[in-house]
Formats: sequence, C-alpha cells, structure tokens
Amino acid sequence: MGGARRGVGSPVPVLYPGAGFAIWGEHLRATRPILLRTRAHPVIHGAEPISTAAPSPGVVPALPLPALPALPALTLPRPALGWYARLRAVPFILLHVAALVAPFFVPITWTAVGLGLLFYVVRMFGITGVYHRYFAHKAYKTSRWFQFVLAWIGCAAMQKGPLWWAGHHRHHHKHSDQEDDPHSPIVKTVWWAHVGWVISGRFREAPAMKDFEKYPELRVLDTFFTWVPGLLLAALCFAIDGWSGVVWGFLVGTVCLYHATFLVNSACHLFGTRRYETTDQSKNCWWAAILTMGEGWHNNHHHYQSCARQGFKWWEVDVSYYIIRALAAVGLVWDVREPTAKALASKLIADAKP
Ligand SMILES: [Zn+2]
Ligand SMILES: [Zn+2]
Repeated sequence: MGGARRGVGSPVPVLYPGAGFAIWGEHLRATRPILLRTRAHPVIHGAEPISTAAPSPGVVPALPLPALPALPALTLPRPALGWYARLRAVPFILLHVAALVAPFFVPITWTAVGLGLLFYVVRMFGITGVYHRYFAHKAYKTSRWFQFVLAWIGCAAMQKGPLWWAGHHRHHHKHSDQEDDPHSPIVKTVWWAHVGWVISGRFREAPAMKDFEKYPELRVLDTFFTWVPGLLLAALCFAIDGWSGVVWGFLVGTVCLYHATFLVNSACHLFGTRRYETTDQSKNCWWAAILTMGEGWHNNHHHYQSCARQGFKWWEVDVSYYIIRALAAVGLVWDVREPTAKALASKLIADAKP
C-alpha cells in the first residue's frame, strides 16, 4: 500500500464555535448559548502523502465514505460565574430591603422629604446631565476641576463610577437592541434590561474610555471610591435630620433613583412613540421623561446622541438640559451642543406624531 492514494476530499462535518461569543472584561461571556455549526470540510484519510497519479493496477481505491448526516445544532451552557460574582449584588439588594423596611421605624418629617426630593433632583442630574450627556456623549465641555465635581455628584447616585457607567452606555448605543447590547429588553427580557444586567455580575469591568481614562482623579474615583460620595451624602442627611434624614433623604431617594434611571433601559425601548427611524426600538416615553428629568425622550436621543438636549419640542420637558443651560449661563460649562436643523428634519417617520 506504500504511496497508494487512499482517498482525498471526502466531505466530513467539522465543528467550530459560532457567533455570539465575546470576551468582555475578565469574563468569557457567551451572550447566547454557543451554537456549534457544521461545515463540509475536505480531509485526508490516512497518513500517506497525497498522490495525484492514477492508482496502480491491482490496488483497490478506497471506497468513498458514506455521507454523514448533518449534526444537530448543539448548545453549551453559559460559562458559570463564581459565587463571589453573585455576592456583588448583595449591597444592592440590602439597600432595597432597607428602603422598604426602615420607613416603618422612623418618623417622616418635612425636612426629610425635602432632602429626598432635593437630592433626587441633584443626583438624577448627576446621572442624566453628567454620566450620560457629558461622560458618555460629550455633549458639552467644562474645566477639569468642575468635571471632577460633576463626577462626584454622579457617584452620589450609587450607580458606580463615571467611566464604568459611560463605557457601558456607549456599548449600548453601539449595539443597541442587538446581541451585544448589555441591556436590551428586545433581545433579552424586561427584567434583564431593567435590573438583571446590573446584578448579574457579568458587567463588573469598565469598558475602555480612552478620552477620560487619562485623568487619574477619575480613575481613582471610579476604581476605589465610588461609594464615598453616596456615604458622605447619607452622613449629611443624618447631620441635618437624624435617621429620618438618612431613610427618606438617602435610602428611599436612592432606590427611587435606581428604578427611574433603569426605566430608560427597559421602558424607553418598549413603551411610547417613535419620531425618528433608528436601528433600534427606542421610544419617546413622556412619563419616563418626567421621572428622569428628560431622558425619556429616548428615540430623539438615539437619533441624535451627541447633543445636550433630548426634548426636541417645547413641550418635551427636559429638566437636565435646562440645568446644563443654567450652568453654561454662569460659565461653568460651555460649547453646549445643540441639534442641527438638518438632523432634526432627517429620518423622520412619515406617520409619526409631531
Ligand atoms: Zn437606548
Ligand atoms: Zn445615550
């Protein structure tokens, strides 16, 4: 048999990992169960060198292999996260338990309610006007010292640091309502989009943010001290109105902030109207816009992401934008980006409501 050709090019299925498989941060993350597909692939049977010469007389050519049936698509489970990753959700859950239980044990005072409302507005701006419109979209400019003040205010909302928050939000826009969107209620579930992705432990690492990572004070705040502004705020509430201040001014306000903010990821891709043709399912949702000080005009925002305002019509109330304008009026921020007339008029959906 030496040198004889035993068979070349028989189609045999081989396996290779399919799409939907991404490395993000330190985790090997399968956004969907990994699909193993089959593909016909030429293989050589036997170890002899390939010969294109005709078979010698008397040598029986190898019988062609019977065609193998296509293998069914196989799924592999998600790579499991360690138990310690799930423990990271414990403070978030405890904060909710405390906000639900503690109000029954402390008196409610006007001062405490006032603190809750005041710090809700200030911290909501820290998320919408700072983390979102400044750090994620660079919708205006400011000085380095005021940038740090803004980052500190955002941190007080207890939604991690500016680099983490803005990095994941940029990822949301890049893959909006597609497989790699961290929080799409279209691709995954409403629960996942609202809160599941936050407590899953899968998004602990901050994506690259080259434009802001160069500031060491932001890196330090984002990495080591994200809890400090919030805890100092709780201490301030205690100093002003004791435990009533802590419970109503900080605890309840923080949980309300969480879920109002999360509505942008969940409700604003499900409920409301669409004015602009975008590649996702973003919606303008008026009640979410009220709760989030303007972020609910989410279809407007997905259409024109880099401008500082999201309410494009006069009746689309956008409190975060008004605050940015007020800061610009006193010179703390500048180069506030406005939507151009061309952008406002482009990609309009024909039968959209005004
Ligand atoms: Zn969105
Ligand atoms: Zn955005």
